[in-house]
Amino acid sequence: MICLLFGPPGSGKGTQAELLTAALGVPHVSTGDLLRAEAAAGTALGRGVAPLLAAGELVPDELMQQVLEQRLRAPDAARGAILDGYPRTVRQARALDACLARTGRRVDVVLVLGVDETTLIGRLVHRAAEQHRADDNPASIAERLAGYRQLTEPVIDYYRGKGVPVLEANGTGDVDTVHRRTVRALESAGVA
Ligand code: AMP
Repeated sequence: MICLLFGPPGSGKGTQAELLTAALGVPHVSTGDLLRAEAAAGTALGRGVAPLLAAGELVPDELMQQVLEQRLRAPDAARGAILDGYPRTVRQARALDACLARTGRRVDVVLVLGVDETTLIGRLVHRAAEQHRADDNPASIAERLAGYRQLTEPVIDYYRGKGVPVLEANGTGDVDTVHRRTVRALESAGVA
């Protein structure tokens, strides 16, 4: 089961992906979390990507593909994963599809969390105060929102064009309400 979770920054992807691990029986794989862990540990990779993370800019595709492929090779991902933050560009989507095809797998379902821009900005400002994420500042927030609209939304159309089920869930509301909507969407498509 390979489930891709899409939604703009602040749409609650990380929180909802964690909650969906039980429903789908596969781990949550967040490329942002993987990179932040590398940066916090001060590894060579982490030191290299830290300035990009802080500016809300994308890490180069080749590097991202390596990070993701290594994570998907871990035993806990043998049955699949909920991917959060990857693929972010059509180029990454093609690389992911090629990687999955090598092991006879493919993307099974795409789930999109929809949240309006005013709510998103409010949530990101709140998260900045609570979590002190380097990229939760106004300039980086604007960069990440623009990147999502320009580069990542086309990935959803790319999968739709390939005939992969694209499910949408309203991401506005409290965590449990949104979780129930995501489970209902996955159930209606027969994947949860
Ligand atoms: P996220 O936690 O998904 O918002 O990701 C935080 C940051 O990590 C992004 O702003 C990028 O700098 C970097 N990042 C995460 N995933 C990717 C990806 N698939 N491609 C390029 N950069 C990424």
